[in-house]
Amino acid sequence: MKILINKDRELLVKDLSKDFHTEFGFVKSKDLKKNGRIKTNKKVGFSVFDAGFIDLFRRIKRNAQIITAKDAALIAAEAGINKNSKVVDCGGGSGALTCFLANICKEVYCYEIRKDFIKTIKYNIGFVNLKNVKIKNKDVYKKIDEKDVDLITMDLPEAWKAIKNCEKSLKAGGFLVAYFPNILQLKRFFDEIEKNKNFSYLKAVEVIQREWDLKERVARPKFDGLGHTGFLIFARRI
Ligand code: SAH
Repeated sequence: MKILINKDRELLVKDLSKDFHTEFGFVKSKDLKKNGRIKTNKKVGFSVFDAGFIDLFRRIKRNAQIITAKDAALIAAEAGINKNSKVVDCGGGSGALTCFLANICKEVYCYEIRKDFIKTIKYNIGFVNLKNVKIKNKDVYKKIDEKDVDLITMDLPEAWKAIKNCEKSLKAGGFLVAYFPNILQLKRFFDEIEKNKNFSYLKAVEVIQREWDLKERVARPKFDGLGHTGFLIFARRI
């Protein structure tokens, strides 16, 4: 897949075998195949390049509400995951967090109880071109199969019900991160972590990202934008 971009538009081209039509005229299939500067038949210039992970990630299919890049990025940063990491993502949903983590880690195990959601997760993993994800149609409140895990992420309504299972799966020093839209859920999770002698509580965070409008004589925060997403709570297996 390719990205066709100029100062006004950013377009994803999925099928390079056909001419690509835009509001600025069309681009010939043979021009799409090479990277660099090209022109439409109406002489409008575009730059063409191979779509990278983030170009595709931003365009994945959504069914469940996804964890957005700002929250996923903090999870990755706080847990310090890398190409050697083994991660379990609980509550696959649309597979957004799964894909974000798999782009960084060695392997990701994605648990999802709903078969219809698994279809979307599979589609999205293929769409972003990743091969290191294993999807499991299993209930994490019952069991998590993996051992020696570096990071477990949970985007589940009652994530506290899986804490015992996470305890068995995480390696010493491994991170447990839960994401909740509602602060009362986070508090309940915190209370369980506090009681558990095998976890140390690290912090609870809300990532607030304020985007600004910059053009000519305008330089101020945007009026619209992403409102509330969710709260994150971090703990460590000790
Ligand atoms: N983080 C995901 C969205 C998750 S939505 C993303 O970024 O795309 C929460 C998902 O958890 C739902 O799809 C729901 O079906 C799943 N789920 C709920 N309880 C579960 C359980 N006990 N085990 C596994 N998956 C569960």
